[in-house]
Amino acid sequence: MTEASPTSAPVPSGDPIRVGVYVCHCGGNISDIIDTKAVAAELAAHPNVAVSNDYMFMCSDPGQALIIDDIKANHINRVVVAACSPTLHELTFRKALQRAGLNPYLFEHVNIREQASWVHKGDHEGATRKAVRLVAAGVEKVVRQDELFPIKVGVEPHVVVVGGGVAGMSAAAALAGRGLGVTLVEKASALGGRVADLDRVYPTEESGADLVQNLTRQVQCHPKVAVRLGSEVVGLDGHVGKFTVTVRATAAAAQDPDHVVRAGAVVIATGFDHYRPAQGEHGFGQSPAVVTLPDFQSALRQCPASQSGLAYQGKPVRSIAFIHCVGSRQIDGVHPPQPDGKVNDYCSRTCCAATLHTIRQVQARFPDVNVYDLHKDIRTYGRGHEAIYEEASRAGALFLRFPDEEPPTFAASKDAKCAGVVTTRDILTWGEELEIPVDLVVLATGMVPRDIASLIDLRKLPVGTDRFLQEVHPKLRPVEMGVAGILLAGACQGPMDINEACTAAQTAAVKAAILLANPTIELDPFVAVVDPQRCDGCEKCLAECEYKGALTMADAVEAGATVRRAVVNPAMCVGCGACAAVCPPRAINVAGWTLDQFDAMVDAIVAEDVGALAHTECRPSARHIEFAMAGGGN
Ligand SMILES: Cc1cc2nc3c(=O)[nH]c(=O)nc-3n(C[C@H](O)[C@H](O)[C@H](O)COP(=O)(O)OP(=O)(O)OC[C@H]3O[C@@H](n4cnc5c(N)ncnc54)[C@H](O)[C@@H]3O)c2cc1C
Repeated sequence: MTEASPTSAPVPSGDPIRVGVYVCHCGGNISDIIDTKAVAAELAAHPNVAVSNDYMFMCSDPGQALIIDDIKANHINRVVVAACSPTLHELTFRKALQRAGLNPYLFEHVNIREQASWVHKGDHEGATRKAVRLVAAGVEKVVRQDELFPIKVGVEPHVVVVGGGVAGMSAAAALAGRGLGVTLVEKASALGGRVADLDRVYPTEESGADLVQNLTRQVQCHPKVAVRLGSEVVGLDGHVGKFTVTVRATAAAAQDPDHVVRAGAVVIATGFDHYRPAQGEHGFGQSPAVVTLPDFQSALRQCPASQSGLAYQGKPVRSIAFIHCVGSRQIDGVHPPQPDGKVNDYCSRTCCAATLHTIRQVQARFPDVNVYDLHKDIRTYGRGHEAIYEEASRAGALFLRFPDEEPPTFAASKDAKCAGVVTTRDILTWGEELEIPVDLVVLATGMVPRDIASLIDLRKLPVGTDRFLQEVHPKLRPVEMGVAGILLAGACQGPMDINEACTAAQTAAVKAAILLANPTIELDPFVAVVDPQRCDGCEKCLAECEYKGALTMADAVEAGATVRRAVVNPAMCVGCGACAAVCPPRAINVAGWTLDQFDAMVDAIVAEDVGALAHTECRPSARHIEFAMAGGGN
């Protein structure tokens, strides 16, 4: 059984519903367009509204004090704030209700800034009318709102990190440093990921191997970190706070292949793959003189320091063309589609700096080599990256800019003077077509998502249109996934350099540490709730539920007969409402977003007169939702 402990005194049953409505000016953001006084005055006519005011900044301390005073002195027992986006201040106002002794969920936040004043700047009257309807809908919703209580689940103070590249290792070290146990699962036989293959890394010029060794030492020497090399995650059950993770050793000789770890959170840090050019793309696969950047970097690294001239596979190199954006920023109809039929239209972010950094290495070691840099744009956005471009330019690299729709082509040479000729149009010289004889073409291949389909399938992890793993919100929740307790670190989320990958990893570690800081976690109660009296066991809801374990069928005894009823595991339900939408007898509701509430909101939006809306009586008793946990919880 999950605990559902009251956070405040319940509203006594039978009390009249008294709603307080507060319309915020947002310092002019709202009131410059919307007549906030008129909105407050119209809402005062609603039969359930006892107080209706407007104020400059509702989120300010005096603004919150208005609400708290009204709850205490005017017996307000439901609150509607019409202001900015709930993402910004819903929690602020819920906490204000709590401080006043009211259940924090007897609150509705109506967004009249993004949804009214900002989008109807040229129509003050229309924006005001819209705001009235939106706030009236908020009132109709809140009068039908029951008290709710956070779902409490117990916590395992342990984290599984999947992937032992720089991101995974940074996350593991940071988590262990905060006192949490960590299991670091790495598929390969060694830690380090792609950085282990790099010689010197931009912009710091550290050696990739040293960087990896340093992090490896931190995780391998830490008593709280268990490293499982040559292993993969093959099972991921449970929920935030209490996951059961099955780790399988992939080596065929492993004696005990499966190892079960109990963890409160999981960090995914599975990194990226290099883009593999299509056959014939800029001559790739047709000529040995066309190679990828990682292959060229690896050859450069193996080239002895004593070697006087640059050679590739035994052939002297006097002239190289580097071509940017191979496999990135692709254009439909110009570039070959990926297996899913789409092109990689995203920017791989790291390849511009990586290419220029490689050019600098060539220039420093082999100053006689002619370097051509063919790009559609140069995106050296990070601190210290532009300096690499400037240095390459000063040292004599020739920069040519090709049009987006006209990538350079390569044709093998018939004579022995060079390996082939690159043909490109150069925007910087007013579209002149140039033919460049070269010994080598280096394709700056981008980053693509690694194939982690089996891991994704374990929990239907959200994937973006670019096929990288997707966070809940790029700015507000940048390392959280839609599945609570599963966090993202590094290039599995999208192209990142080492600095960004490690920053994301540290963020994920802090997020996990906050989640697991207490013996229990409180989750929002906006989850599906089944009314067993209405449920007829048709199982339509099961077919719609995307979240494994969130909804199951269980036997129940009714009037002496055994019947099947839907049962929700609240810790695993995300409250998406897909089950409620398909339930023929309306037996499922999402707490805080019931079908009755939606009906009433729609009625309020289409109503002409707020004063004509019906008075709603308080229900006989505030419903205290008890969550029956299917084999979990605290
Ligand atoms: C050509 C090139 C040059 C670059 N040069 C630089 C540079 O000089 N400076 C810089 O800052 N950045 C550079 N980068 C970027 C850098 O490589 C990345 O930022 C870094 O590798 C990201 O680290 P990561 O840990 O997220 O991913 P990765 O390095 O890809 O590591 C992921 C790890 O997860 C493991 N893994 C994958 N799947 C699983 C699974 N299912 N289960 C368990 N383990 C799994 C992998 O084996 C790997 O060890 C370069 C990138 C490219 C393409």
